[in-house]
Amino acid sequence: MSPLVIYNTLTRRKETFVPLVPGRAGIYVCGPTVYDFIHVGNARTFAVFDLVVRWLRASGYEVTYVRNITDVDDKILDRARERGEPIGAFTERTVAAFVEDCERLNLLAPDREPRATRYIGPMLELIERLESKGLAYRGANGDVFFSVHDFPGYGKLSRKNLADLRAGERVAVEAAKRDPLDFVLWKAAKPGEPSWPSAFGAGRPGWHIECSAMSGRELGATFDIHGGGWDLQFPHHENEIAQSEGANAEPFVNYWMHAAFLNMGDEKMSKSLGNFFTAREVLDRLDPVQGGEQLRFFLLRGHYRSELAFTPELLEDAGNALRGLYTALREVPAARSPVDWSHPIAARFRDAMNDDFDTPVAFAALHELRAEVNRTRSGALSGLLRALGGTIGFLQRDPEAFLKGGVTLDVDALVAERSAAKKAKDYARADAIRAQLDASGIVLEDKPGGATEWRKK
Ligand SMILES: [Zn+2]
Repeated sequence: MSPLVIYNTLTRRKETFVPLVPGRAGIYVCGPTVYDFIHVGNARTFAVFDLVVRWLRASGYEVTYVRNITDVDDKILDRARERGEPIGAFTERTVAAFVEDCERLNLLAPDREPRATRYIGPMLELIERLESKGLAYRGANGDVFFSVHDFPGYGKLSRKNLADLRAGERVAVEAAKRDPLDFVLWKAAKPGEPSWPSAFGAGRPGWHIECSAMSGRELGATFDIHGGGWDLQFPHHENEIAQSEGANAEPFVNYWMHAAFLNMGDEKMSKSLGNFFTAREVLDRLDPVQGGEQLRFFLLRGHYRSELAFTPELLEDAGNALRGLYTALREVPAARSPVDWSHPIAARFRDAMNDDFDTPVAFAALHELRAEVNRTRSGALSGLLRALGGTIGFLQRDPEAFLKGGVTLDVDALVAERSAAKKAKDYARADAIRAQLDASGIVLEDKPGGATEWRKK
């Protein structure tokens, strides 16, 4: 059996996954900054790490899955101010919307979901430790900065060179810093902003320190996997490494994983570019029953390290592929059994997933199995298809209910009326009903023997 290998951004190589504690895996994923609904590109990142967690569990690991919530940040303060809403009420509402989007996408809830504002103590402890080691200093403006110059190895994740980075910065921008690359750990309080008391004066944390403090508190100074979007490699993850390794003098993370962008045309989908759809906008346009699994299927069909284009055609194509799998499950009722890994298609699926989560190959195995189910009409193979899909969170719905979708017409009544019309040789009425259903996106399939089945287009 193939071992799990993971592409480690830190070493730029695929490496066999060897957890710190045999049989266990700790994973930390940078979660949302809750100032708005997540866009569908963010949804891709969260779906990717949901897949990673599910596959680790399916492989027998006892996983601790931590995903944080950034609930204090300039964007949050600005947005709450614009709306005239207290910050706490505003973030509660955006967190609830995020949870709802995750549920619609069938993403597992993390085991722990630390919120920045509840971890101020651990953040301050970390900053004090950095200061005592000469890695943090108080700037002239009252902010506390990390001294990049004093941390050897800065740039090792993103493979950036300090001289090049400095050349790219406008040195005079912030006179409070010793070095333009230094980044803020603690921001001095400003009037009208939330702040916490500290040895450095009242203030609030910088963004990067949150993840170092929360991951350390939840998973320990060294842990197995850290994930996030591609764009977080620099500066966010580089800064997390500097803070955590600077404070603890031991390796921070053994495997760094980054999910590639979802693109609109040739550009990354992002809020700053304004070329985005929120996840809920996309879901609201899809069938209410099928949409969540369809979008998730679309987001995970491409390999997580490859950029993916968002187009209505590709989204629809993913829906058709998924409905094809469910149709096989409807036609041949699935026997309930655990995955038989000795079956060659199951083994191919597992080898693909173990090869750095190679979903294009794994999904191809599912389609191959669908063809086998259709050919052999074997309930055992149908059960295998369902169970394999289940390892990564697919194909667990009732096929009949899934394929019918969230239609509001009483389709069964119309189908019965059409059958009665046909029997009475009222073909005009029968055709009119078929046309009405077709206009509502319902396809009828007349089976030998007179029965009629239907599904959503
Ligand atoms: Zn983070």
